[in-house]
Amino acid sequence: MSKSEIGLLGLGTMGAALALNIADNGFDIAVYNRTARVTQDFKATAGDLAPRITATETLEDFVASLKSPRAIILMVPAGEAVDQQIAALRPLLDDNDLIIDAGNANFHDTNRRAEAAGDKPFLGIGVSGGEEGARFGPSIMGGGNKASWDRVAHILTAISAKHDGTPCATWMGEQGAGHFVKAVHNGIEYADMQMIAEVYGILRDGMGLDNAAIAAVFDRWNTGPLASYLIEISARVAEAKDTDTGRPLLDIITDAAGQKGTGRWTAIEAQHLGAPVPAIEAAVAARNLSAARDLRQTGEDIFGGAPQALNGALTVDQLEQALIAGKIICYAQGFTMISGASEQFGWNLPLPEIAKVWRAGCIIRSVMLDDMATALSEDPDKNLMFASTFAGNLKATHGALRAVVAQAALHGLAVPALSSGLAYFDTMRTHRGTANMLQGQRDYFGRHGFERLDREGKGFHGPWAN
Ligand code: NDP
Repeated sequence: MSKSEIGLLGLGTMGAALALNIADNGFDIAVYNRTARVTQDFKATAGDLAPRITATETLEDFVASLKSPRAIILMVPAGEAVDQQIAALRPLLDDNDLIIDAGNANFHDTNRRAEAAGDKPFLGIGVSGGEEGARFGPSIMGGGNKASWDRVAHILTAISAKHDGTPCATWMGEQGAGHFVKAVHNGIEYADMQMIAEVYGILRDGMGLDNAAIAAVFDRWNTGPLASYLIEISARVAEAKDTDTGRPLLDIITDAAGQKGTGRWTAIEAQHLGAPVPAIEAAVAARNLSAARDLRQTGEDIFGGAPQALNGALTVDQLEQALIAGKIICYAQGFTMISGASEQFGWNLPLPEIAKVWRAGCIIRSVMLDDMATALSEDPDKNLMFASTFAGNLKATHGALRAVVAQAALHGLAVPALSSGLAYFDTMRTHRGTANMLQGQRDYFGRHGFERLDREGKGFHGPWAN
């Protein structure tokens, strides 16, 4: 039997979809899963693609069924499972065989694994797009040794999403660069989703729209500057009916959000880098607070529910404008963080290419990313808010964002990501800020010293120093 071009270990949601995508693109693939029944079922249900798939039940058979030098994709949960599988595979592999971790690894783990691999080829690639993306075309953010990437680039670009024919699969840089970019992608996803949820809350509680009307609003927005996968699916979620009860599904979904940690990693890493992403932090905090339902009930019992009804204080168009402004601000934060990491880690991350790779296949795909790719091509280091297209957009929309945040505050509607975005915008347009007071305080209690606007030098102290 002929050997397969590539192997895939881990036939869960993502692994199974990715394996079918690889086979569908004409590559012979060998698969292995810890639980053998899953492998058998996978092959049995692969239909026309089954002849391209070699199902194996031991790691030895899996490795033996691959063409040399081998390439093996791991699609298992991030963390220990990845280390276990690398440890189990390495003794069976030749030195030039390539292991590719395609799960959502923390990029620090990918850095560590790349170092531990030494000269043995190892890639960490971020794959975005959920199950459907993995099956029909994900966005792929590669990291690790460039020569290793080149070995499998023909497969990864073939299976990736295409934007006007351009594959959404790019090598980002050494070691954990791909997983880092994927983490920031997920952080932006958190903030984008949270802002949409906040606007949904205003449409529902502030304006009293029912789910069908909210779906119609999202559908309309999806034909304009906000056109994106997340707006599109928000409309589908809003209009869905529960198949058991016939009730609007959104009304019976519990208001407590889950998370797998990538947004939190992004927020933590941004703090380490000194490249703040406050809208993403607000979104992570909002998910945590959403889970505290009992506590929120206690709060409502003590303080009473907020009035919420806006009585015409805002229009739907203002909400659209506010969301446009919020989205630009949140992407500006994400790209600034990527730029900061690129410098600190010496990765030379290709910012325009990152915007391009996110234009199709991934969860945050949107029409706005086209303009972002253009702006970043012109000046990758410029905060996107200051690039001419987006500066123009913000000039036109920040008033609406301000109105939405102000009215939401007055009516007790929580909009943490939108208000954080507005505060970032206002901070970034204010040359004379308020940190002079912080510096005065720090010098007062800790003799930390300050700089002066009227003299050169550092380490000045106030009169309290004596
Ligand atoms: P699933 O839970 O659906 O599947 C996990 C797979 O890993 C199963 O095949 C399971 O095998 C296997 N596995 C679990 N633990 C081990 C272990 N210790 N050793 C060997 N195999 C193990 O996960 P997903 O497919 O959703 O996710 C896989 C990776 O892809 C994760 O890193 C995830 O974060 C990432 N990802 C997920 C996305 C999604 O939308 N689901 C999107 C993008 C990335 P068994 O059948 O034996 O349990």
